[in-house]
Amino acid sequence: MSDYPAVRTLMGPGPSDIHPRVLQALARPTIGHLDPQFVALMDKVKVLLRYAFKTENPLTMAVSAPGSAGMETCFTNLMEPGDKVLVCINGVFGKRMLENVTRLGGIPVVLEFPWGEAVDPAKVEQALKADSEIAIVAFVHAETSTGVCSDPKPIADLARQHDCLTIVDTVTGLGGIELDVDGWGLDAVYSGSQKCLSCVPGLSPVTFNDRAIAKIKARTHPVPSWFLDLTLVMDYWLDSEGTGGKRAYHHTAPVNSIYALHESLVMLKNEGLENSWQRHAAMHQKLAQGLEALGLELIVDSSIRLPQLNLVKIPEGIDDAAFRKQLLEKYNLEIGAGLGAFAGKAWRIGLMGYAAREENIQLCLGAIKETLA
Ligand code: PLP
Repeated sequence: MSDYPAVRTLMGPGPSDIHPRVLQALARPTIGHLDPQFVALMDKVKVLLRYAFKTENPLTMAVSAPGSAGMETCFTNLMEPGDKVLVCINGVFGKRMLENVTRLGGIPVVLEFPWGEAVDPAKVEQALKADSEIAIVAFVHAETSTGVCSDPKPIADLARQHDCLTIVDTVTGLGGIELDVDGWGLDAVYSGSQKCLSCVPGLSPVTFNDRAIAKIKARTHPVPSWFLDLTLVMDYWLDSEGTGGKRAYHHTAPVNSIYALHESLVMLKNEGLENSWQRHAAMHQKLAQGLEALGLELIVDSSIRLPQLNLVKIPEGIDDAAFRKQLLEKYNLEIGAGLGAFAGKAWRIGLMGYAAREENIQLCLGAIKETLA
């Protein structure tokens, strides 16, 4: 028996199924991370990431670590001890933002929303009006723990009116739902490679605009993490576009993962960003109809649902863990467990990137139907 696990179909909260072309790119021979040909590939990745994020920000790149490192990059660089940060929490990942703020010596102002609901801009406005010292507004665009989409534009508008920067988590959003970093005026944004980009886990695309960079340059304390210090990382990722970087050694880049990211971004570009968003929406409709036909209920209101993450109520009398185990063992199909307020009460069915296709939906609906019977 092989030491390696079986081939699964990944329809949980991520990682998602990886396209064979991306896996092939990953398997290419490694070259030096300062080899001019690799440097040229990094330049292409930056351009493709700008396309995916809809931004012209020169400081757009992939942090060599998972989405959590993208999050820490934003907080570590943009926030200084004593800064007040409005943290909007409507699920697990907003809570993680709060952890970052407190661990880095920031002063959190917490705005909590019920799990399964979106961040309410009216409450954000109230909070900003009540405290003029708030310097940063942090929120999650696509909350993977609940399958809820919050609308970034009105929140970013309010932040700007109140002279605050925004830090936005779109780990699950990028490539799957509308995102317009420049059009919406988002200042610091992080994502992940393993969700709707259908790439290998372990990279975190990030982008920072001029306002964010100005805040970093004006810091009075050094960035507390050497690895995540953007002023150093920039020297590795930026240069040929006249952004002042030296293309100097900072850390050994995960060369093969960058090959994979490049391939997944090329595929996104070829499909077209808007087409990818539409495919996710269309596949979500199909899945939702099929689930409802099986008598299953989607928990999140359709107006704020993420197409790529479906929160499904577990029917009465079903043993959650045993059900998911059977899907995994009999059908090699992974769906996600509920988290936090939804633990044991809901499943999370992902339709992310390469997983958002007809065959997967048929497999998933068929497996659920047989297992429920
Ligand atoms: N933010 C959100 C919304 C996520 O869904 C995740 C991962 O699931 C993360 C952050 C953390 O990303 P990673 O697990 O790649 O560190």
